Amino acid sequence: MTESRCTNHRQFGTSVACPSVPVHLLRSIVAGSHPPIDAPLFSTRSQTAYGDDDEKDKRATAERSGERREAKFVMTFQMLTKHLQKHSNTLAHIIQTYAQSKQLSNGKLLHAQLITSGYPSSMYLTNHLLSMYARCGQLGYAHRLFDEMPQRNLVSWTAMISAFSQNSEFAKAITTFCEMCVFGESPNQFAFSSVIQACSSLKSVQIGKQIHCLALKVGFSHELFVGSNLADMYSKCGSIIEACMVFEEMPSKDEVSWNSMINGYAKNGYNEEALVSFKKMLTEDVTIDQHLLCSILCVCGPLKTYNIGRSLHSFVTKLGFEQHISVGNTLMDMYCKLGDMDSASELLNINSKGTNIISYTSLIDGYVESDQIEKAFVIFIELKRQKIEPNEFTFSSLIKSCANHATLEQGVQLHALVLKYNLDQDPFVSSIIVDMYGKCGLLDHSLQAFEKISKPNEYTWNSLIGVFAHHGLGHKAIDVFEKMLLHDIKPNSVTFINLLNACSHSGLLTEGLSYFNSMETIYGVKPKSEHYSCVIDLLGRSGKLKEAENFIKSMPFEANAYAWCSFLASCRKYGDKERGELASKSLKIIDPLNSGAHVLLSNIYAKEQQWEDVKSVRKMMKDENVKKLKGCSWVDVDKRVHVFGVEDLCHGDKKEIDLKLDELLRKIIKVGYVPDVDSVPFDLDYDMKVKILNHHSERIAIAYALIRMPIGKPIIVKKNLRVCVDCHSAIKLMSKVEGREIILRDNSRFHHFVDGSCSCKDFW
Ligand SMILES: [Zn+2]
Ligand SMILES: [Zn+2]
Repeated sequence: MTESRCTNHRQFGTSVACPSVPVHLLRSIVAGSHPPIDAPLFSTRSQTAYGDDDEKDKRATAERSGERREAKFVMTFQMLTKHLQKHSNTLAHIIQTYAQSKQLSNGKLLHAQLITSGYPSSMYLTNHLLSMYARCGQLGYAHRLFDEMPQRNLVSWTAMISAFSQNSEFAKAITTFCEMCVFGESPNQFAFSSVIQACSSLKSVQIGKQIHCLALKVGFSHELFVGSNLADMYSKCGSIIEACMVFEEMPSKDEVSWNSMINGYAKNGYNEEALVSFKKMLTEDVTIDQHLLCSILCVCGPLKTYNIGRSLHSFVTKLGFEQHISVGNTLMDMYCKLGDMDSASELLNINSKGTNIISYTSLIDGYVESDQIEKAFVIFIELKRQKIEPNEFTFSSLIKSCANHATLEQGVQLHALVLKYNLDQDPFVSSIIVDMYGKCGLLDHSLQAFEKISKPNEYTWNSLIGVFAHHGLGHKAIDVFEKMLLHDIKPNSVTFINLLNACSHSGLLTEGLSYFNSMETIYGVKPKSEHYSCVIDLLGRSGKLKEAENFIKSMPFEANAYAWCSFLASCRKYGDKERGELASKSLKIIDPLNSGAHVLLSNIYAKEQQWEDVKSVRKMMKDENVKKLKGCSWVDVDKRVHVFGVEDLCHGDKKEIDLKLDELLRKIIKVGYVPDVDSVPFDLDYDMKVKILNHHSERIAIAYALIRMPIGKPIIVKKNLRVCVDCHSAIKLMSKVEGREIILRDNSRFHHFVDGSCSCKDFW
C-alpha cells in the first residue's frame, strides 16, 4: 500500500453511505490494536504516517489519542461483531456497494475485519468479496479467494469467469469456463455472456462457435444477454452473416442487442445495412441511447450521405443528446468526415462546455485531412487556451500534417511539445515523428528519433522502412526489415508496401519479387491490391514492361488506378507507345478524371513527335473537363515558404532569379547537359523548349535558394508533382557545378543530389 494518510481521509470522507456499519470504526480497529493476520490484505500506512524526527511531539500526541480511541473502539467492535454475525445480507450489500463504487481500501478493511473477528466464512460472502476484488481490478486477490474456497457453487464459478474477462485475462476466462463444465456445473446466462465476451476479445471465432453450440444445447442462445453477446462476438470476428442469424433469432431485443448489430455492421464496413437496421429499429419500441446514436452517426462519414447525416443531427437534437459529450464528439467527427468543417466547428461553439480533448482532436484531424493546416493550428492554440491537455492523437494528427507538407519548423516545435508532455514513447506519436523528419528530408534526425524509442513496435519499424523507401535507400530499408524480424516484430501489410516501394525505387527487382512471393507463405500476410500495384511499379521501373503487362493480366483482381498510372509512367519512360495506350484506355475507364494519365499519354506522343495525337489528348481533357494539376515547388528561405509555379515569375526577385537560371544553364551545359526537349509536349522550336524546361518550378525554387541561402547549407525543395526527366538530370549537374547538396521531394519520393549524382540512381 502506498496511499498517504490524506488520501485515505479524503476517500473516507466521500465514501458511499452504509448506514448499518460505522466503517471508520472498523478501519481504525484494524489499523490499530488488531495486528493483521493476512498481511498482504492490510494497510501499513499508520506506521509511516509520522516518520519525521522533527515531529516527535506530534507523534506522542497522536499515540496518546490513539490509545484512548483504541479502548473505545474495542468495546464498539465487540458489539459490532455480534451485530454483524446476524446480518450476512447487510454485509453482502456493503461489499457490493464498495465494489460498485470501487472503494478497494474500504473493501479490504472489511475483509480484514471479517477475518480478525473470526466471522465464519461462507460461500455467500466469499462470492461477494471475490466480485468486489475483481471489480476493483485486484485479480490476484480474487483468484486466491477462489482457489482457497473449500466449496464452490455456480455463483463462484461465474464470478471468477467474469473476473478474468473483466480484467482482460481472456484465455483464463475460457479455461475456467471449461473447468466449470468439467466440474459438472451447468453455466447460466452470465457465465455464457462473460466467456463469449472473452472469445470476442480474443477474436477466437472457433471457440466462440463451440460455446454457441453449448448455449443452444442448454437453451440460452436466444436469451437477451447471451444473444447480444453472441451477435457482438460474431461481428467483431468479422462473421457478419452469423451475427445477423443470431440477432434475427432473438425473440426479444433491447437497445444493447440492436446496438451490437448496428455497430457490428458499421465496423465491418456494411454501412448501408447499418442504416437499414437502424430504420427497422425505429419502428420497434426500443429506447434510443447514446451508444446507438454514436453507432449510427459513424456510418454517415464513410457513406458520404450528407443529407442523412443532417437528419440524424436533427434527430439527436430532438432527443436532447446534442450536449451529450460522446454523441457531440461523434457528430463532430461525422461532419469532419463529410468534409463540412463549418458545421463541425460550429458544434464546438454551440457546445463549448460539453467538449473535451476528443472533440478538439476530431476537429484538428478534420482540418488536417481537408488540408486546412492553419485552421488545425488555430484549434490547437484554442485548446491550449482552454487549458485542455493535448493527447497522443492530437499530436499524431498535427505532426502528420507537418510530414505531408514538409513543414519542418512546425514539426520540430511539436516534437519539443511531445517531449514536454511525455508522449515521446507512445508508439503512434513516435512513429509519426520518425516519418515527419524523414519526409522533411532529415534522414539523420529520423534515425535519431527512432533510436530514442525504447520499445519500437511494428508501426515504428514500418515508419523507418518507409523513410528509407522514400529516400530511395532500398538496401537500408531491407536491413531495417531484417532487424525488425530479429526483434521478433511480425511484419504486417504496411511493412510490405514500404518494403516493396523501397525495392522499386532502388531498382532491386529480384529482392522485391522474392519478398512479394514470400509474403503469404513465410510471413502469413495476404497480398492486397496495393502490394500488386507495387510489383507492377517494380517491374515497370526496371523496364520489364512485358512482364508487368502479364502480371496485370494474371492478378486475382482488377488493377487499380494507381497500378495503371505507374505502368503508364513506365511506358512513357521506356517509350512504349502501344502499352502506353492500353494503360491509358484502362485508366480512363477506372478513373476518367485522372489528369496524370492524360498528361503521361500526351508525353508519350510528344516523344514520338505525334503532335496531332498530343493535340487530341489535350482537346479530350478540355472536353471532358479534366483539370491538369498545376506543378509548383516551394522552398523555406528566411523562415518563409516561397512558392513557385511553372514559368511563374511574379516573385519580387524575378530579375535576380532569371539571371541565376541563365547562369546555371550555361554552367551545366559546359559539363555536358543536353536538354531533353522530347519531354516538352508542345510543337515548338528547340530554344523555346529549352527555355520552358529551364523554367520548371523546381529549378526556379533552386535558383532562388542558391541566391538567398547561406553557402554550404543544403537546399530542400518540395514539389507537388513528379520531377521530370530533364530537370532530374539538370539538377544532378547543378549540385556538381554549385558544390551544393540539393534535396528534392517530389510527390513520390526524395532525391538527394550530391556532386553530380542522385540517391535514386535514376529509378523513380
Ligand atoms: Zn522539369
Ligand atoms: Zn533522383
